[in-house]
Amino acid sequence: MPYVKEVFEYLKRSSPYQKEFYQAAEEVVESLRPLMIKYPKYRKHKIIERIVEPERQIFFRVNWVDDNGEIQVNKGYRIEFNSALGPYKGGLRFHPSVTAGVIKFLGFEQIFKNALTGLQIGGGKGGSDFDPKGKSDNEVMRFCQAFMSELFRHIGANTDVPAGDIGVGAREIGYMFGMYKKLANKYEGVLTGKSLNWGGSLARTEATGYGTVYFAKYMLEDRGESLEGKRCVVSGSGNVAIYTIEKLYHLGAIPVTCSDSNGMIYDKEGIDLKLLKELKETNRQRLTEYVKYRPNAKYTPSEEYPDGCNGVYNIECYAAFPSATQNELNLNDAKNLLDNGCFCVSEGANMPSTTEAVDLFVESKICYGPGKAANAGGVSTSQLEMAQNASMVNWTFEEVDERLAQIMKNIYVSASQTAAEFGEPTNLVLGANIAGFKKVADAMIEQGLV
Ligand code: NDP
Repeated sequence: MPYVKEVFEYLKRSSPYQKEFYQAAEEVVESLRPLMIKYPKYRKHKIIERIVEPERQIFFRVNWVDDNGEIQVNKGYRIEFNSALGPYKGGLRFHPSVTAGVIKFLGFEQIFKNALTGLQIGGGKGGSDFDPKGKSDNEVMRFCQAFMSELFRHIGANTDVPAGDIGVGAREIGYMFGMYKKLANKYEGVLTGKSLNWGGSLARTEATGYGTVYFAKYMLEDRGESLEGKRCVVSGSGNVAIYTIEKLYHLGAIPVTCSDSNGMIYDKEGIDLKLLKELKETNRQRLTEYVKYRPNAKYTPSEEYPDGCNGVYNIECYAAFPSATQNELNLNDAKNLLDNGCFCVSEGANMPSTTEAVDLFVESKICYGPGKAANAGGVSTSQLEMAQNASMVNWTFEEVDERLAQIMKNIYVSASQTAAEFGEPTNLVLGANIAGFKKVADAMIEQGLV
């Protein structure tokens, strides 16, 4: 379809050096071919040309002072991508690898993910190249306050509601909320992932990891399979990885790996979840510490995988849960997984598999849940937090978890039914992209050219 090519040529000329964004956009647009043929109205209304352009992009400077009294300067971003379905919603990422292209890819994915949840939320994303690792609590607070001193004028409970992502957890959300409240003179649900003491929702911390495992469960059930008694590999050791491991244990599976950017742990008997939480959530330590307490576990530094492969995917498993970062799972990793008998990949991270790895998973017809469907539990529960804030009620953990499981089921059903409608029943990439796009595109047409 030369039309799609033309759109990309233009995109690459007008937004240069944004490779992660092209990767995300190309995957979505490529899978829309059959939809565009079936419904010419989307082309007539130039939905693809419009949807790849953010409605608004905010780039700003963040000045702050470190503990040595030195001035530091970082870049801040908020990309308000698409508000056809509701207020912009999506996390903030604090990591040195953050660029405009990374935030744009995340924001773009967020549009379709949010649409798939069936909730009234638009897509957005933001963050900074600030690295919270190794910073004191006071430095993190000063940075968060400086970041919010610009962001506050662009967000609001009914406008744009950021949340956490890599490097942004309850501590950072707390500091940012404090500054927002002071500057806006409003106590409102402007951020999600808040502490339980003052407006947070039970089960929000657990939601992305739990949701990714629920998604795997529903994919497997449809094939008469289950996770019970199965060895699973998980990458990452942050919020998503920890609660993926927790839910895998709830379902009787055995998670045997986790990782951070320096290396990975292989614990044959199953990851010691209590120890992992203590190291990561309480003490903010590196994974090298893990083997001091579990001498039978093995730590392998990342340098042993110079081709970019993460050692996690060399371990024999039935199911894999990539939960660290984008492009962490390449074609070699995908081949290793399949050669070792892996039958299910459910993505907790955003775009963790390279294009070639995704193609191989789809071709092999294993249960493959792409991130925008499989990790939508986090944003769904964020919306449940917004609903509780707006109505001033608090639901129990069980109530939220039940709703989360139901939303994940709905997402699975919607993606798999759409995939079947277009003749590829196991291709959830196609199903998720078409189902998400259609919802947003129809809303854009109904709301006119704005
Ligand atoms: P955290 O900051 O809590 O944890 C991130 C984990 O991934 C850490 O273990 C980190 O290791 C590792 N990691 C980060 N960058 C790299 C890298 N370049 N190479 C290897 N490991 C890396 O983030 P989350 O758990 O919240 O997020 C993980 C993924 O899940 C991201 O892709 C995020 O976008 C996605 N996601 C998160 C949601 C949420 O609700 N939190 C919702 C939906 C998706 P280290 O400590 O060494 O940096």
